[in-house]
Amino acid sequence: MSYTANFRFYGSLNDFLRPRQRHTTFSYTFAAHQTVKDMIEAMGVPHVEVRDVLVNGEKVSFSHRLLPDDQVEVYTYENGEETLLSGIAERRFVLDVHLGSLARALRMLGFDTVYGQHLHDPELVRISIEEKRILLTRDVNLLKHKAIPAGYWLRSQQTEAQLLEVLTKYKLADLFRPFTRCMVCNGRIVPVDKQQVLELLPPKTQLYFDEFYQCQQCRRVYWKGSHYERMQELIRRIKEKERYS
Ligand SMILES: [Zn+2]
Repeated sequence: MSYTANFRFYGSLNDFLRPRQRHTTFSYTFAAHQTVKDMIEAMGVPHVEVRDVLVNGEKVSFSHRLLPDDQVEVYTYENGEETLLSGIAERRFVLDVHLGSLARALRMLGFDTVYGQHLHDPELVRISIEEKRILLTRDVNLLKHKAIPAGYWLRSQQTEAQLLEVLTKYKLADLFRPFTRCMVCNGRIVPVDKQQVLELLPPKTQLYFDEFYQCQQCRRVYWKGSHYERMQELIRRIKEKERYS
């Protein structure tokens, strides 16, 4: 036996829907055993991006079962509120294997970011759950794993645009802490005396720089060279875009 209910999705949840379903009310045919979460995910929307489901104006849980002709409204999070509501106090991330450039950019800005080419889907899900990390991915299906506490599907395929999506969604722009996290291994980096790292430095760097930082985990040394200038330039572009968005 199948029934129909009317659905409407709000905000960025429309990105997941078919064109004819976006920003409008549409009817959806369902079977009696389906929960409202089953239906929402069957339409392509991962539950981690859903904040509230209202049925006939009243908030329901994901396990709610619909009745024929119910009116369903589905809302997403406001930028920045998701981490507070999902019990994730800190904005820490775990990224899928395709997002190496985004991982380096987030670490460069000082955000705790787990990433590794050896980390496949089951490990990503486990890390997200056990370490309460926000899972970032381009794979919508990965976000449908029901125990993931928080996650976000990156709309763009281009690193800088992805970075801007994440900074905007999680309100990170005022939380940059450059030179606190290793871009290679995510370890903490701390200021270190030049004498202590002298032998690890290229000759010109020994000559022209005096301020150094070292990763506590992999011992890689950082200084404010050309890489630093590129980072400053990126931060300037991000702040500029934020101002006009
Ligand atoms: Zn390191």
